[in-house]
Amino acid sequence: MENQEKKNSAEVLRNLPSIDTLLRTETSAKLVGEVGAKHLAGLARLVTDSLRQELLEEITEKNNEIDAEKYSREILLKEAELRLEDSWRQEQNTSLQKVINASGVVIHTNLGRSPLSDLAKKAMLDVSGYCNLEYNIETGKRGKRGARAEHLLAELVEAESALIVNNCAAATILVLTALCKGGEAIISRGEMVEIGGDFRVPDVMIQSGAELVEVGTTNKTRASDYEKAITENTRMLVKVHPSNYRIIGFTAKPSIAELAQIAKRNDVLLYEDAGSGAMFDMSKYGLKDEPIIPDSVRDGADVVTFSGDKLLGGIQSGLIVGRGEVIEHIRKNPLYRALRVSKLVYAVLETALEAFRKETVMQDVPTLKMLAMTKAELKQRTWAFAHKLREKIGEDADLKFEIMDGKSVIGGGSAPAVQPQTTLFTIKHKDLSTSQLEERLRHSKPPVVTRILEDRVLIDLRTVAEDEEPILVDTLSSIKAE
Ligand SMILES: *Cc1c(COP(=O)(O)O)cnc(C)c1O
Repeated sequence: MENQEKKNSAEVLRNLPSIDTLLRTETSAKLVGEVGAKHLAGLARLVTDSLRQELLEEITEKNNEIDAEKYSREILLKEAELRLEDSWRQEQNTSLQKVINASGVVIHTNLGRSPLSDLAKKAMLDVSGYCNLEYNIETGKRGKRGARAEHLLAELVEAESALIVNNCAAATILVLTALCKGGEAIISRGEMVEIGGDFRVPDVMIQSGAELVEVGTTNKTRASDYEKAITENTRMLVKVHPSNYRIIGFTAKPSIAELAQIAKRNDVLLYEDAGSGAMFDMSKYGLKDEPIIPDSVRDGADVVTFSGDKLLGGIQSGLIVGRGEVIEHIRKNPLYRALRVSKLVYAVLETALEAFRKETVMQDVPTLKMLAMTKAELKQRTWAFAHKLREKIGEDADLKFEIMDGKSVIGGGSAPAVQPQTTLFTIKHKDLSTSQLEERLRHSKPPVVTRILEDRVLIDLRTVAEDEEPILVDTLSSIKAE
């Protein structure tokens, strides 16, 4: 008996496909063009190694009592082929690709924040070859990099000057380094916050070589607290918008105008990190506490920073606006050279800024368009969507859906309490759990990212582009339990 078992184990191990055998299969022939011969051989080695490892473990665990028939040559080869395909699929999923954002989170940091508008995509394509990045077409001489985008930005917020860097974190470090290195920056204890994506105010400030002087308390800081803390080493007062963090109730903080007076009186600078970059009053869309950039400039902030891909709806970038001489001083800091942006970023920002100038931003810039969608509009779209899906899957399909009222999420560091009313499309599957259904959608092509609430998968069409709806109908209709 024992001998027979030993024989079985040896036989099973002999049945394992070699790398060469695996590479000669139809599966490999199908994959080789896409993967490349060398990398496919590497994947085949990993697959056969892991199969051998698992078999050896099973043999030990079962004390050699292994059923040879379950591990025939054919079965093991089939398993290896499946694993080869799967390892390539998993690797591909790590590469940057389109996803459908059905989560209803408009400024979704994990999904690339603001989607580009059609105009922005066209502009990017347009400058993708040679372009006049630092070339003046009028004179034929060297031109100023980013001049047009900076000009539009300064004009939009009614500031004297503007400068554009890689993101708002870079803008903050640059501003503090250029204006406050070796000096003191006064900041309220209520604003020493962490903002999504690893941005911690105190860490960023220390990185720049500025010395932090904290004033006030977590919930209340008065103008006089700032003024009392000013010494001969003070270079600036700093105000940070706490973004995704709120203290509700017994709170106080001075306005930009009050702080500007103190800064002026004491000959120090006032810097505001406003974060989201609201260009106008967006309280109509539920955004009540966002600093409005032109207001901050008008009220006397010397320099203001904000993101280019939150409420501005552009692309990852950090926008710096303010007084001419202050901005020029920042531009001259060598760190600026390391943080400046590419031609593609300027191209996209120009389109977004032009849309603000022309007042077409609510139609032309997807982020703002999505924020402005009403519950009624979404209800209509969701019912039409349900109709199309019903037509496709028929009356008694395994996929069940329902339409209900709910909330979208703005995201991107906006106040967590701000949740626009929406209409939700909720789905369930007869033979799949909620998390299995969510996973099926996430693993489809293109991946569909949803939300789960209690025992339902939620689809919020607010963040789904209209030309993505047919794809979503196809994806939903092809879900199988198996
Ligand atoms: C979002 C945010 C940042 C970071 O902006 P990035 O563009 O992601 O670097 C910094 N400060 C505030 C106040 C923010 O809201």
